[in-house]
Amino acid sequence: MAHRVTLIPGDGIGPELAEATRRVLDASGVGFEWDVVEAGEAVIERHGTPLPEYVLESIRRNRVALKGPITTPIGTGFRSVNVTLRQALGLYANLRPARSMKGLETRYENVDLVIVRENTEDLYAGIEHMVGPDAAESIKIITRTASERVARFAFDYAVANGRRKVTAVHKANIMKLSDGLFLESCRTVAAQYEGRVEFEDRIVDNMCMQLVQKPELYDVLVLPNLYGDIVSDLAAGLVGGLGVAPGANIGTEAAVFEAVHGSVPKYAGQNKANPTALMLSGVLMLRHLGETAAAERVETAIRDVVADGRSVTYDLGGTAGTSDMADAVIERLAAADDAERARPVAPAPAS
Ligand code: NAD
Repeated sequence: MAHRVTLIPGDGIGPELAEATRRVLDASGVGFEWDVVEAGEAVIERHGTPLPEYVLESIRRNRVALKGPITTPIGTGFRSVNVTLRQALGLYANLRPARSMKGLETRYENVDLVIVRENTEDLYAGIEHMVGPDAAESIKIITRTASERVARFAFDYAVANGRRKVTAVHKANIMKLSDGLFLESCRTVAAQYEGRVEFEDRIVDNMCMQLVQKPELYDVLVLPNLYGDIVSDLAAGLVGGLGVAPGANIGTEAAVFEAVHGSVPKYAGQNKANPTALMLSGVLMLRHLGETAAAERVETAIRDVVADGRSVTYDLGGTAGTSDMADAVIERLAAADDAERARPVAPAPAS
């Protein structure tokens, strides 16, 4: 049975990446019915908003979406579509794995981190106002419910994926109440996983230094929204940059899969941007849909293309275009399928 999935091409480089990823997923052997819905700058004139209700309706109906990046218009009064979408659908956990890829020149070879970022509150909710003409105030709200919920997600993820440790990241030494509550919530949840998953905590500034010096010491990190945003870009930098950093926004009712990077408007329409991050987000989506074998096949094909280095985009040192890189992944998938079919079947043991 085909999976019905909402596809939001997005804007900037989004449509090219979404098309490349859709082609790769269609070549995975898994059946998809794509419910394509437009959001972002292009629809503002027609619908008066970059996030028309039909987009949310489609995701609520299908419960799974693949999304290209969407530009946040500056100075138009519209809130970020990305933030609004996460809040409207209760996508409370932002999962951002950062794993080294063979063939990419980076400082470390064996980084394997998973960032779990709280996705609904904290300073990132953008609740702010002017206090008179010369001062602005942003409000940081941290709740026990949201903090325990995301901590539980991190521990469950660790258990389900055989990870050994969860590290809570905070600044509770200074923001004793807000970050203090986040840390306390993580500790409460950690106690329920004692003996199964290790737990520790780090202050966010120290964490940044540790990650660039000894990333191998860390495994799953759980962070409030803003630190999660920043530290996940740092983690992306450790494994080859934004072009290879996938992500997933997960809630109880729906899940939206998207790259960590933005819409890079300067490269829009140039067939230049790297589709790897969105393709790897597609791999996360396959796993979420229970299509584990297809996820493995697609991830191996992507990693092989990157390791081979002949069909990669400019940011990975190559000259291939977005669509060429997708073609190379599709060729690898087809070659792997042929090899599988050609494998001799072992004779049945003589009785
Ligand atoms: P960006 O991620 O769009 O670009 C930063 C730089 O990273 C680019 O200049 C480019 O050099 C590199 N880069 C990013 N993705 C790449 C790719 N796939 N291939 C090759 N190089 C890549 O960040 P920005 O410039 O801060 O944001 C641009 C717009 O995107 C803003 O409007 C922002 O709000 C929006 N944004 C959207 C999302 C989202 O949709 N989830 C996320 C982040 C930013």
